[in-house]
Amino acid sequence: MNTATTPEAIQVLTDRTDQVWTKGSGKAFKCDRKSTAGSVTQRACAFCGSRVVLYPIADALHIVHGPIGCAVYNWDIRGAMSSGPQLHRNSFSTDLAEKEVIFGGEKKLKESLVELIEYYKPKAAFVYSTCIVGLIGDDVDAVCKSVTQVTGVDCIPVDSPGFKGTKKSGYQAACEAAFKLVGTGDTGGISKYSINLLGEFNIAGEAWMIREYFEKIGIEVVATITGDGRVDDLRRCHGAALNLVQCSGSMTHLAKKLKEDYGIPMQRVSFFGFEDTARALYAAAEYFGDEDLMKRAQELVRSEIAKYAPTLRAYKKLLKGKKAALYVGGAFKAFSLVTALRTLGMQTVLAGTQTGSAEDYEQLKEICDPGTVIVDDSNPLELAKFVLEKDVDLFIGGVKERPIAFKLGVAFCDHNHERKIPLAGFEGMAHFADEVARSALSPVWKFAPRRSLPRVTQNKEGVSA
Ligand code: SF4
Repeated sequence: MNTATTPEAIQVLTDRTDQVWTKGSGKAFKCDRKSTAGSVTQRACAFCGSRVVLYPIADALHIVHGPIGCAVYNWDIRGAMSSGPQLHRNSFSTDLAEKEVIFGGEKKLKESLVELIEYYKPKAAFVYSTCIVGLIGDDVDAVCKSVTQVTGVDCIPVDSPGFKGTKKSGYQAACEAAFKLVGTGDTGGISKYSINLLGEFNIAGEAWMIREYFEKIGIEVVATITGDGRVDDLRRCHGAALNLVQCSGSMTHLAKKLKEDYGIPMQRVSFFGFEDTARALYAAAEYFGDEDLMKRAQELVRSEIAKYAPTLRAYKKLLKGKKAALYVGGAFKAFSLVTALRTLGMQTVLAGTQTGSAEDYEQLKEICDPGTVIVDDSNPLELAKFVLEKDVDLFIGGVKERPIAFKLGVAFCDHNHERKIPLAGFEGMAHFADEVARSALSPVWKFAPRRSLPRVTQNKEGVSA
């Protein structure tokens, strides 16, 4: 990408114009569709979608049935921490090559599974299908059944060939696979005030912080799905009274299945920012209708805010008026980030997601300020166009957005699953403010080309400064 490129010179692809929307424009907005051919989407493949969801289950064996490249592409993909086993951090693969593509890979899969199960003794095994397996037609279900019989360890196929659909299709495949374990464990001894945390992946230990909040106010967390996850927790999670769904894009399907089959209600929550964390704790307390529980929740919120509010106030003075762009996987994170940035005195001028639904975008449109550009399933050039056009001070995204920001000379804050700093909860909000300030206020951006050189624009007569 040429840093001298002007936003005017970058065109939005014709087929994507209705996936780009400006608040106040009144035009139609479309989402929830396959990526446009020719647009270098920021989305990952369906296989990657399933892998990011199941990967944090730490005592399970995860084996990628496909060429080695697929496994390498998302090896150790999340900064998902485990308080015990670390088996999930290995990236096993059947390493399919020409011979298996021609004669089939079932034999190799069976041998690999048996050998790995004998050696590592996992609680269960997840077998991910990749594109080539979808093409050659290996019967992964049959292999899993036969290895389960031989070893006595549940082998669960994940129907996730990369071409299956969008990343969302991979999320769904992961939920279907996880659901196969649900209902197979003993629910005895679970408190009547109990929850499951769905879509919490324990990035940098966030699930531990959130779990502690609930335990302090008297609510038992039966399973975090899938952060610091355990196979046995999944087996008994149907004994919880309520499901709190954080990453709604990835886990709504599982929550719906738990509702349909076990009658467990679900609530969408977020633990990013003071307001949303407090709201999530109050929502759970209110659901159980216990006054003491609510009082404890209020006390916890009060004391945590008192602890970190002075830090936020100090950063707000420094950050007031700065402009931010954000591009994230799911919409709920986008809502929370808009609110959290506002708490720091910053304005969101560009917001987008990879997998938002129509309902999500309605909410996003509502909370954003007039003039904010909203994009669905965007690509690097489009993002660059609006980052330049809006002259943003900070870009928030993940590993694929980082080079876009740095090439344009824009500060960047990693809010994705590779980061090593906890940003959830009250303490996490203080870390977030610190991260944002350190990046956005760094003197280095003064020397970035877009700020230090006069912008070159093109008019009818030619190029002028
Ligand atoms: S698109 Fe297919 S080949 Fe590429 S990483 Fe995904 S599963 Fe593997």
